[in-house]
Amino acid sequence: MQKFDNAREAALALRPDQPVYCFRPEVLKEDVRAFMGMFPGKTAYAVKTNGEPIVLKALSEAGVTAFDVASPAEFAAVRDVAPDAEMLYMHPVKAQSDIRLALEDYKIRIIAVDHEDEIAKLTRIVRALDIDPGSMKVFVRLQTKGHAAYELSKKFGATPAHAVELLGRLVRLGYQAGLCFHVGSQIEDPDTYERALASADWVRNRAGVKLCGLDIGGGFPAEYGHDPRRQAVEMPSLGQLMSRLRGDIKEWAFDDLPLVAEPGRVVVARAFSLIVRVLLRKGRRIYINDGIWASLSDSWTGKITLPARFIPDPARKTRSGNPETIVPFRVCGATCDSVDILSRPFWLPETVNTGDWIEIGHIGAYSLSLRTHFNGFYPDQFVEVVTPFGAGAEPESFASLETMAD
Ligand SMILES: *Cc1c(COP(=O)(O)O)cnc(C)c1O
Repeated sequence: MQKFDNAREAALALRPDQPVYCFRPEVLKEDVRAFMGMFPGKTAYAVKTNGEPIVLKALSEAGVTAFDVASPAEFAAVRDVAPDAEMLYMHPVKAQSDIRLALEDYKIRIIAVDHEDEIAKLTRIVRALDIDPGSMKVFVRLQTKGHAAYELSKKFGATPAHAVELLGRLVRLGYQAGLCFHVGSQIEDPDTYERALASADWVRNRAGVKLCGLDIGGGFPAEYGHDPRRQAVEMPSLGQLMSRLRGDIKEWAFDDLPLVAEPGRVVVARAFSLIVRVLLRKGRRIYINDGIWASLSDSWTGKITLPARFIPDPARKTRSGNPETIVPFRVCGATCDSVDILSRPFWLPETVNTGDWIEIGHIGAYSLSLRTHFNGFYPDQFVEVVTPFGAGAEPESFASLETMAD
């Protein structure tokens, strides 16, 4: 991988027409070590957030020894770069053949369920493979309520009363039983974890079984850009959030249990930025070489303000407008369909034009992993970059903001 000090240097040296991901392994290692330093338990990185081999390898080098996986492809990706790492199979609804593969070939012994039929499915395979259920930790996924940018409890999780019953069932079948939850991604309310812990406590008391662990999932918010024209959402820093979480864990008396967290976004968001090129400007509209089917999948970035830096092409000698004036541009993506228009504008210097580049920061989470091959476009070029995106002058531009007056 070619290495540059920063994205501007990479853009000017490579003059890329295709999107380029700028990977910052040192930032990734710093962020994951910071998380591990603050969380009083095991950190299992959620592979779906960004499962690139370079990411898994850097995390493993940084000391991550556990990974939250959901599919055979994720098992293989982890095994390839970190053969000794522990895998936690935390998807509550699994194909029978995938469970068998996990247990038989990958020797996975930690698994999540949220329904009795999933326990029945698991038990058939455990018996067929002659595995001692006592060697397995089965976590009951508990439904949670709260505010996250991406709510996931609509899809997974047992109600507290149902979770009580599932825990009892697991213990009767001879499994070690634990509780897990996942509050959604990019939480927007600092009380979220406390509410989930309170619910887990209720379930534990009613179930009256010995728990083998508590897995508090992911959801920890990454710090993204902030549009100075909008009021900032007041969120505590990760340090404050974690300090509160440690207090809540003590208060609800979960501190004597083995704890697990499954951070994704907060670990990897800052580790990548993306250089895109303006293929054409038409008035207040720009056409770029990436879009919603590739790295800018709107379902995930729509509510997030990504900081961006403008990299003007020095080959363009004439420009109109004032480089200090930041204005909204409608952004059209690379594919030939009218869906591929970002629902939010990019705010850029009004001088932006055909041939210029834009570096979009903090794009490491749920961007590369959501790329598609639609229309034959699949950004897959990487460079290594040393300087963190946030270093130096404040980014002058922003991607994906609230609304745009047409
Ligand atoms: C997606 C996911 C995570 C990671 O969530 P982040 O918000 O990225 O931290 C953790 N656990 C489970 C079960 C998940 O599905």
